[in-house]
Amino acid sequence: MSIACTKVKMSDKNGDLNFLGKEITQWRDIPKKKIQYAPKSETIMVSGGLTILQDQLLQAALQSLGENYISLPNPNFESFQTGKAYGNRGQCNPTYFTVGNLVKYLKNLRDEKWLSSEEIVSKYVYITAGGCGPCRFGMYITEYKKALRDAGFDGFRITSFEHDKGIFQGDEIEDDILNFSPKFFVVLVKSIIIGDIINLLGYKMRPYELEVGAVDKAIEACKDTVSTAFLEKKNLTKAMWDCRSILEKVALNRLQPKAKVLVMGEFWAAMTEGDGNYNLHRFLESQGAECIPQPIMNRLMLSLWEAERAVLKRESLSVEGASAIDFSSMKTKMMIKLGKTTVKTYFTLYAKAIGLHDYEIPDMDKLAQLSQEFYTLDCEGGEGHLEVAHLIESVKDNLSHLVISVKPFGCMPSSAVSDGVQSLVTNRFPESNFLSIETSGEGAANFYSRVQMALFKAKQLAKEEFEALETPLHIPQKVQNYLYQPHTHQAGTAAGLIASLSL
Ligand code: SF4
Repeated sequence: MSIACTKVKMSDKNGDLNFLGKEITQWRDIPKKKIQYAPKSETIMVSGGLTILQDQLLQAALQSLGENYISLPNPNFESFQTGKAYGNRGQCNPTYFTVGNLVKYLKNLRDEKWLSSEEIVSKYVYITAGGCGPCRFGMYITEYKKALRDAGFDGFRITSFEHDKGIFQGDEIEDDILNFSPKFFVVLVKSIIIGDIINLLGYKMRPYELEVGAVDKAIEACKDTVSTAFLEKKNLTKAMWDCRSILEKVALNRLQPKAKVLVMGEFWAAMTEGDGNYNLHRFLESQGAECIPQPIMNRLMLSLWEAERAVLKRESLSVEGASAIDFSSMKTKMMIKLGKTTVKTYFTLYAKAIGLHDYEIPDMDKLAQLSQEFYTLDCEGGEGHLEVAHLIESVKDNLSHLVISVKPFGCMPSSAVSDGVQSLVTNRFPESNFLSIETSGEGAANFYSRVQMALFKAKQLAKEEFEALETPLHIPQKVQNYLYQPHTHQAGTAAGLIASLSL
């Protein structure tokens, strides 16, 4: 048992069998005692669970709006064990990691910073994403409340983006804490997009750095530059432009043939950068691979695509006696269009400024078209048809040497549905190199060994692709500059750069 594991104490009431023989009562989310919550001016909002960079940028972005907001540290193995200790059985990994991370943070405030539980409950609010599922995602908020209650924080407030009745939906608590204004969402989207762009560049550059740690150092400097711009309300495009000179100083050797690995799968498992997926991206890099991560923006675009499809489907149903023009649909369609335009505009602006030239926001219609023969587009749980679409796109457009689909153990949409369909896809596309792999929080050795096996073939493919090209005698210096990102048909970066020289 690890040290982290031994530190986690079960609560007195958790896991015992005292319920046997007792009268069964209905589970209720509302706190047992009436709680006097602190006024907004004293309220502290916490959240987390995105990539490390995005959590930090989000903190700067929301603080720039005057919000008293703190991003939690990245969830680790201790968070997971804490989540398991206080959570229900049979939940998904992301719940254990994120719920446990919050409980760990609050316990630290209580046990190390000496805040009373009452003060914590009264002053702190946790923001998370919520929804009705259709998988276990629908249970997340209840899970938070149950774990918090058992950990001694009964009545701790959880609020989510997708509810319309305020904090503690259905409870008699005033919701004047969060200001979900358009400004709030624009700032939020900006920090996520900027984080995506810098992360994408980091993954492109890190495998080729000449000095170990140089890219991480440069990204840290970029984070400081952008955070300062947020806090001081300066021009973010200019801040991204300033990041160019930071990144350009990193010395690279991009002519090393490395396996390119597309990492996708269940949203959280594929996106997190830590124990939640056994540090998959860093592990791949340590084994000589270059990762293509899944930006959070892709999930945003999928949500907009799903919302638009739902409106169009509703419109196609003729209702007797309904008015000829449905104004609520028109409004939703306008909002969706605005959402898409906002994401695309900011992405293009910031990507151009920092010098990310070869990444395009995924075309959701194209992805839907690629996958619809295999996966019904009406099935919206998890990433829906996207996992299947990403694999097909990667094979057809030769985007990578290996596709890894990572998901929490027993993930309903990803393991149970997508992976079932992927066996047909890999059958139809025998040239694909695909690995589907689950994370359980434990069992890293088995995980790494399976990744290494799949990577072996990918590395061979990368080497063959590179060696099939004739390397010119003179290699121009621009090849080593991250700003040089030619479009070619090769999957590998080194092969693509060499091929571009003869175009
Ligand atoms: S997508 Fe998978 S991991 Fe995420 S909530 Fe649903 S079942 Fe759990």
